[in-house]
Amino acid sequence: MTNKTLCSLCGSKKTFLGDKNIVDALSLEVFNVYVCSTCSVGYTYPRPKNINKYYDQEDYDSYQKKKSLYNTIYSLVQSLNNFYKIKIIKTFGLGNILDYGAGSGSFVRYANKRGFKALGYEPINTKRDKNVTNKIEKIKKHKYKFITLWHVLEHSTDPKMLLSNVKKMLSEGGKIIVAVPNRGSYDNIYYKNYWAGYDVPRHLYHFNQKSFYWLVSELNMSIVKTKPLYFDAYYVSMLSEKNKKNPLWVLFGFLVGFISNICAVFTKKHSSIIYIIE
Ligand SMILES: [Zn+2]
Repeated sequence: MTNKTLCSLCGSKKTFLGDKNIVDALSLEVFNVYVCSTCSVGYTYPRPKNINKYYDQEDYDSYQKKKSLYNTIYSLVQSLNNFYKIKIIKTFGLGNILDYGAGSGSFVRYANKRGFKALGYEPINTKRDKNVTNKIEKIKKHKYKFITLWHVLEHSTDPKMLLSNVKKMLSEGGKIIVAVPNRGSYDNIYYKNYWAGYDVPRHLYHFNQKSFYWLVSELNMSIVKTKPLYFDAYYVSMLSEKNKKNPLWVLFGFLVGFISNICAVFTKKHSSIIYIIE
């Protein structure tokens, strides 16, 4: 059981209540985010005892099938992001990729088409995709030049342990590529407890740049490069408007996403950030 007055990432006792009364759009349960003054991470409180029940619902994003405007936007953002992510990785050359937390396998399929040899690991994978496995032993047999964790770390019960384990699977000169929502972004500050980037209780940790730097230095690693995920600003803002029950969520979300990206040109505090570490 987590303690609200004890940071679950660094163990510091210097914590305070950040955004409160954050409603989970799926279960309608209410959670808070506490913030650590030492490492700067935010963490979900209370932490649910059985996290799986919050994923079981059919309409969780990654597994959605219904046709709707929301799903069309989701698919569009996913395709644009796949293109953009591969472009970034290619600046470090080709090689094999392990996509840790591969979801439906969309990135793995795209990477394989673009000259990489990609394998996905997804513990709750129920789909039949020969390149995505739910068996950890299978992925541990190899070493990888790139290990990607696209919006995975914030779901982990122990991000430090997860990164440390993943680091062991890197080949010589290999890189870990992590994307996480940024709780220091303009859209977070604008939407507060309605911010869809919190996605409680599925997200247990809420990073900003400071807390991510702290985590990386704890692992004796360093950040080689950071890149924004521009489309996430629009996507997260639209979902946040949906949380606010705004019938014009597409329009307003687009505008706030646009403002967030403009602000980030100056502040570098994008809605979601990709960190390349080694
Ligand atoms: Zn801390």
